[in-house]
Amino acid sequence: MMSEGEGVAAVVVAAGTGERLRATLKGAAPRKAFFPLAGRPLIRWTLAALRRCPRIDERVVVLHAEDLADAETCERLRAWGATALVAGGARRQDSVLAGIAACSGGDERLVAVHDAARPLVSAEDLERVCAAAAKDGAAILAGRARDTVKRSDGEGNIQETLPREQLWLAQTPQVARRGALQAAIVAAGDVTDEAMALERAGVKVSLVEARSPNLKLTVAEDAELMARYLPRPPKLAMRVGQGSDFHSLVVGRPLKIGGVTVPFEKGSLGHSDGDVVLHALVDALLGAIGGGDIGTLFPDTDPSLAGADSRMFVAEALRRVGAAGYRPGQVDMTIHAEKPKLAPFKAAIRASIAGSLGLAERAVNVKAKTREGLGAIGRQEAIAAEVIVTVVADE
Ligand code: MG
Repeated sequence: MMSEGEGVAAVVVAAGTGERLRATLKGAAPRKAFFPLAGRPLIRWTLAALRRCPRIDERVVVLHAEDLADAETCERLRAWGATALVAGGARRQDSVLAGIAACSGGDERLVAVHDAARPLVSAEDLERVCAAAAKDGAAILAGRARDTVKRSDGEGNIQETLPREQLWLAQTPQVARRGALQAAIVAAGDVTDEAMALERAGVKVSLVEARSPNLKLTVAEDAELMARYLPRPPKLAMRVGQGSDFHSLVVGRPLKIGGVTVPFEKGSLGHSDGDVVLHALVDALLGAIGGGDIGTLFPDTDPSLAGADSRMFVAEALRRVGAAGYRPGQVDMTIHAEKPKLAPFKAAIRASIAGSLGLAERAVNVKAKTREGLGAIGRQEAIAAEVIVTVVADE
């Protein structure tokens, strides 16, 4: 992408209450610019989108006076990339004028007026519309009419079909020279966008077709569709998961620990083979990718899992870690058991776990602790395990 070219000041219009949006929400709703989209306020996404265009070197946000009076809101907006904050007016065009007044530079400075409600605008489209305005004096991003367009007679009947080739749907940014835009808006009377004021003033405005979706949030239902187009957050290089498990020890069951059969007079009670270490390991693997827990994945009410080899659960958790784009990095664990003494089995448990995760043995650590005869574990009535794993991003 081009990174040189004439600089542009963005004016982000964020003063609107969003009445259509509020009408679709139950209960109290924030002002539109602060509507949560994929867990973040709308305007945070919009400012991030503008920051991806190197040519845009200033971002003036026009706020409702109540938002501007809130110090915390102002601080957050600055952290998200706002370079100046001003109060809006009664009409959109009053807010735009207030924003233009707060921009730096003279009459020839390029100003890009952008709706806070359009957070998806791509860096490429921003660059294209700014370049067109630098060349022609004024330009807007727009979409072509894709459907056949009808004019109605006002009573729900078709009056005529309009020539689609000439029909464009105006979006933002709308970019023009500061002096010309200010003069046009002041002279225009009521207008619904800046281009309309420029048209009335006889300024030629270029149409630049948006190549990426540049949807506007108007009603709450728009948010779900828009969230699909948002840039995905960068993946963490490493994540950590934790798991623990606890089983009763009873006579007549084998004692499985980390996939190893440990000779002992009791074994752990459970629907599957009761392997306390592997169950904690599965929870740790799932935890590292935000993947829920073992009980949800493999319910102990599922008859097909009676007596199941817990290595199967580990294999499924490992598959899910891979599907999330990660692989295991390292494992550490503590096994709590009074008896049997685990020292002779630690090496085998370590090798077993390294093998089932495809790790070198040095990446697995096994620790064992007794409970000084206290509690259920100390009385040899139970066994417990705690596991921590790291997973690292593929690539
Ligand atoms: Mg268990």
